[in-house]
Amino acid sequence: MKERLQNIKDEALKAIEAADMPEKLNDVRVKFLGKKGELTAVLKGMKDVAPEDRPKVGQMVNETRAAIEAVLEENKEKMEKAIRAEKLKKEVIDVTLPAKKNCVGHRHPNTIALEEVERVFTGMGYEVVEGPEIEYDEYNFRKLNIPDGHPAKDEQDTFYINKNIVLRTQTSPVQARIMEQGKLPICILSPGRVFRSDEVDATHSPSFHQIEGLIIDKNISFADLKGTLEVFAKELFGEDTKTKFRPHHFPFTEPSAEMDVSCFKCGGKGCRFCKGSGWIEILGCGMVHPHVLEMCGIDPEEYTGFAFGVGLERIALLKYEIDDMRLLYENDIRFLKQF
Ligand SMILES: [Zn+2]
Repeated sequence: MKERLQNIKDEALKAIEAADMPEKLNDVRVKFLGKKGELTAVLKGMKDVAPEDRPKVGQMVNETRAAIEAVLEENKEKMEKAIRAEKLKKEVIDVTLPAKKNCVGHRHPNTIALEEVERVFTGMGYEVVEGPEIEYDEYNFRKLNIPDGHPAKDEQDTFYINKNIVLRTQTSPVQARIMEQGKLPICILSPGRVFRSDEVDATHSPSFHQIEGLIIDKNISFADLKGTLEVFAKELFGEDTKTKFRPHHFPFTEPSAEMDVSCFKCGGKGCRFCKGSGWIEILGCGMVHPHVLEMCGIDPEEYTGFAFGVGLERIALLKYEIDDMRLLYENDIRFLKQF
């Protein structure tokens, strides 16, 4: 019996010696000390031992168990210590490494252009207001003097949610909503996303941005319109910028005009940028149509006003000399970083 116990002990110590991971030490514990382990087997065989010898054998088994346990515990501690030391060594912080670069985002050229335009107009007392991008046909067309069947409705073909709800084709519905509130005078700038069912190319996109302005008060004349937009052009493109108004037609203004600015590249001499004409088309404008005022509950005999609309992308493209509108939407960091 003594010999058998000695064998178990030797074997166990050998196994402990060979174990190189805490898991393996645990295997050794199970194999020798566990419920189905070898020492337990010896205890179970006690019934074959003569009664007078049983205390002695019992003691021997306990001593063997204690010896194996002591070595197991000792090795386990050693092993854990080594693992911890190894881990600390691996996780050591190298204070000489260069710091992680802080990656700060960048404003989109559209955003920069919008803030610039907003700065100019809020400086002249305009209030920036926004409205829904999904709009009633009523506000997007009818209240702006574009009844069903009007050709302008075809030109501004858009996406229909249903017969009465569309993705707005312009930010003018915001004007109609503000006019309807009846708080006069009105002096607003309404920027925002608009939609047209256009194919994507260098100058078209089904989704783009517009900035519209509206002022309504007593005694507003076309001279006010020209003066305001001239200040805008000079602020945006430089003090020497000249403006030119060409008659045009919009359903919601009368008279209507398109404004050109003198080319800020060549100063009006003619260059590749302005296609040799010296002028660059920039926005549409006009005096608010009396019928539009009436439809929104404002007396056209008492009040007049003007409105204008400019494409935000158009300004961004001109200001930063970008020749393809698609670049604005591709979100290529290499492109966006340049502004
Ligand atoms: Zn030019």
